[in-house]
Amino acid sequence: MLATSSPVAAADDFTLPFLNPAITLSYGMDRDSRIGVQLDWTGQVWFDSVPHLGRVYDQHTGLDYGMPVQTSVAAARSGTVVSLEEGFGTNQHGDYGNYVRVRHADGRDTLYYHLAQQGALVSVGQSVVAGQVIAKSGCSGNCTGPHLHFELLRPVSGAWQSVDPMAGHLWTTWPGRVAFLAAYVGESNGSTEVIKRLATITHWVDFRNTGGRTWLRDGSGDRILLGTWNPAGRASVFRATDWPATWIPTYLDPASVPPDGVGRFTFGLHAPATAGSYSEAFNLDASLSGWFDWARLGGFYVPIYVTSGQVQ
Ligand SMILES: [Zn+2]
Repeated sequence: MLATSSPVAAADDFTLPFLNPAITLSYGMDRDSRIGVQLDWTGQVWFDSVPHLGRVYDQHTGLDYGMPVQTSVAAARSGTVVSLEEGFGTNQHGDYGNYVRVRHADGRDTLYYHLAQQGALVSVGQSVVAGQVIAKSGCSGNCTGPHLHFELLRPVSGAWQSVDPMAGHLWTTWPGRVAFLAAYVGESNGSTEVIKRLATITHWVDFRNTGGRTWLRDGSGDRILLGTWNPAGRASVFRATDWPATWIPTYLDPASVPPDGVGRFTFGLHAPATAGSYSEAFNLDASLSGWFDWARLGGFYVPIYVTSGQVQ
């Protein structure tokens, strides 16, 4: 391997700066500094100054993602909050607006701009993990419609220079994913579990990691657990002795599951004393960044029939 003088970190450590995977790019960064010449993230050059939706607008230094005000904004990478502003009105337009700025271990910064009034959910000096919700979006500052302006900056000779994470393929997975997302794959019993009252059975469910972060069984921000849902974190009548808590059936079975891998969650279901039909809903949770989108898990629940008779 050739030695390199470049201090640039591995090109696999950024995720998208929000949690809703349905949000798309409105305008990317202009990688040509000349007025009237636009170089978009795909490499296409435009000799004009009109905005090109999905690609670029002239002199744009960051990435715009259209989203309703009060949408969750997530740290794209772990780091420390170095500055913020949240005193402007959510729709107060002008040169200055609300923002959060995070410094990363390699000296680069990410900037989250146009936030809502009091939209910073972190404080200066606070450590954040990738995927952690750090702010609520708005349309403050130089803004013509609600969106997040996300910008990656690197220090060059004492000044900050914008970097295009899309053209540089700096996302965890091309063309970029939100940090934490999962898709239902299958389970030990896809129909109704029939359990004799006060008996315990074992159930497992497989989810694919369709997000951009590696799931961990242990650890802090990336630890994934299965929790009770509707409402979140409700004590379950089906708690078995292997559950870590009344609302946590289990943590992830394997030590880690990378993006595109499948992770299994195995847990006991202990039937209550009262016979009847039940339905128990579950969702995944990443510590520090919160619950997954339950609808995208297929609205995962286990139908359970508790019988007073003998189970065949
Ligand atoms: Zn912008």
